[in-house]
This record gives sequence, C-alpha cells and structure tokens, in this order.
Amino acid sequence: MCHGNKLTLRLLTLAACLAVWALPLAAEPVANSVRVGPHPDKTRFVLEFSEPVIFNVFTLSDPYRVVVELPEVDWRLPADSGTRPAGLVAGFRYGNFQQGASRVVIDLKGPVRVKAAFLAVPEGERQHRLVIDLEAATAEIFAEDQKSRQPVQQAARPAASAPVAKKKKTDDKRVIAIDAGHGGVDPGAIGVSGVYEKHITLAMAQELRRHLEKGGRYKVVLTRDDDVFIRLRDRVALAREGGADLFISLHADSIGSSSVRGASVYTLSEQASDKESEALAAKENKADVIAGIDLSDKSADVSNILIDLAQRESLNQAVRVAGSLVESMRTTGAVLDRTHRFAGFAVLKAPDIPSVLIELGYLSNRADEQRLLSEAHRTKTAAAIKRAIDAYFSQLQAKSN
Ligand SMILES: [Zn+2]
Repeated sequence: MCHGNKLTLRLLTLAACLAVWALPLAAEPVANSVRVGPHPDKTRFVLEFSEPVIFNVFTLSDPYRVVVELPEVDWRLPADSGTRPAGLVAGFRYGNFQQGASRVVIDLKGPVRVKAAFLAVPEGERQHRLVIDLEAATAEIFAEDQKSRQPVQQAARPAASAPVAKKKKTDDKRVIAIDAGHGGVDPGAIGVSGVYEKHITLAMAQELRRHLEKGGRYKVVLTRDDDVFIRLRDRVALAREGGADLFISLHADSIGSSSVRGASVYTLSEQASDKESEALAAKENKADVIAGIDLSDKSADVSNILIDLAQRESLNQAVRVAGSLVESMRTTGAVLDRTHRFAGFAVLKAPDIPSVLIELGYLSNRADEQRLLSEAHRTKTAAAIKRAIDAYFSQLQAKSN
C-alpha cells in the first residue's frame, strides 16, 4: 500500500465529495423500555428501541454474565431498572461504555445458554425490540458455548504482542472482503413471513463470490461461509488479515414502516471517523493499525494525523464505491433512492480499507422479502455489484497511471 503524496492530493478533492454525500446523521437510538420475563422453559430479556440497532451478544464467566454490545444509546429507562431479580437473571446494568459504544451487562444466577438473540420488528405499540432468550444450562455447556460462539475470535483478534497487520499483496489480484451480516445465534432481522436476515445475507455473499471469482480479477474473502456468529470487530480483523482492498457488508434489515422498500448503500460518516481515529490513536499498538506506515517512532500528534489521513482516504474511496454501487444497482429494478453516510456501523470502521454496507432491501416489506428470496434477483444483484466494483477499480487504476 502506498500512502503519501497521492493521499494528500486526494484529500484536496474530499471536501467536494463530502458535500454531495453529506446527509444528516441519524440520531442515537433511544432505549425506553425494558422487561425481564420468567417463563417455565426460559427467561426472556427485552429491550425496546426507537430504531433498529446493531448488536452483539457474548457471555462471560466468574461471575456468569451476558454482555450485549450496542452503539451509543440514549438511555431513558426507569431509574430502578435492573435492580430486581427475575427468572435466571439476578439483575442488569447498562450505560455508554466508550464513545460510540454502549453495553448491557446481565448478571446471572447461574450458567445459561443464549437460546436466541434477535431484533423484532415493531408491532402495534411496540417498537424495535432486542430479544434475548436464556435457558438454564450446566457450567460445561456454558463454557462450550462460550468457545463455539466465538469461532474466529482467537485467530482474528490482534494480540498485544503480535498485532494483525494488513497482509501484503503477493499477486496483483484485488482482494474483496464480503461480509454476510449476522449469523449463528444472531438471526438479524426477521422478515414479514419469518425469513431470517442471516440466511439472506449469506446466500447473497456466496453468489457474489461466484461472480467475482469467475473473471480471475479478484480474490474473495468471506467473513463467514456458514451459519456462525462472528463479532463485528472480528469481521473487520478477518478482512485485514486477508489483505482486503475493499470491504462490503451485506444486510437486509427491517424498518418500522412496512411500505419502505428498496436497497440502499451506507458509508461511514466523517464525524464517526473522527471519533474512531481518537479511539484508535489512544490504543497502544498504533504501529500496526495501518499497514505500511510505521508509526512506532512518531510522536502521538503525528500518529493521530496519519491515522486520520488513512481514514479520510478510505472514507473518500468508500464514497466512490458507494456512488458506483448506487449507479449499478439501479438496473436491478430495486428502488434505490437512499444513500446514507451513517455513523453507527461498527463493521465499517477498518481505518485502512474502504468499507461500504449494502442494505439489499427491507425484510419488513413483503415485496422486498419475496425478491430477496428469489435466485434470479440474487444473480442480477451480484452482477450489478460486480459491475460497480469493476468500475471503481478501473477508475482507481486510471488515476494512478
Ligand atoms: Zn443487518
């Protein structure tokens, strides 16, 4: 990778690009209701939000806990929330954990199995609900689940002593990381007729891989190739390990209104990039955050600036890819009228890989759901995304010649 002068030149054009793409930031989701329901076979934990949230659930032992990772949330729960035990739950705590991230920690009376964790679409009075079903389990099952639920964590997570640097190229194939949203214990959105988002995104990721590999121009890294749960940050780590030149996260979420439909493309907003760069700069292993730039002998200020530049550069590129995708995906018949720059997606936060998130459509809309289930539509969409990727890299090639 060659950052440097080229990067500085590109920055000059950034302001113009941002002006075109700038849309207001989405407000923080408001958490306004919570309940813990003991049932004979399970304990159900439900947290209600004003809008859909991306979440991640994992367990910790000594003492037994379930941790829910969330984006920054505006907490408006009753003051005594979490203080009363119910079913398998001893109590819970919540709050903003660091800039851009919040957590719920559910204290347990003993070992449990996370039977399900999903986001339910609004119904009547009820808003977006994060539902977590817990069932009693043995300590052995708890320990096993803890391992199996994080299959890539150990391999993918940068250790303090041996950080994962972005892999250097061995040939001139472009590497595309395709990230099928959700998986395993996290089904993602659930469609009007009961379809799980995690299955839609995986089918699409595999179809897109077939299309991209056909021409011999690309190498494809899938963050998951089956129905497993992978943490958001591990998805990014997998892409970096694979030496990705582009990261595409696929989703098909649901939204409050059943009439909203069509695909849309998201990139990270500049504001989130700034926040993220602060957090990154604060980390110890700055030297390995950006491959190809050794920051170890640079002062903190210089490091901050370099991380910031790499992020702006990737953001700039992501905005180009998004434009190309919107252009191309119009031909699939999808109503593609919304393209957003959005702060909340943790999967888009690789500082040195241009990253975009495609909402393939809305599972809360019956027509979209049917289309997303159709093989013909999948083929058409994969072809359109490939055309957009081709166009993006051709443009990049032309610029560097
Ligand atoms: Zn999703």
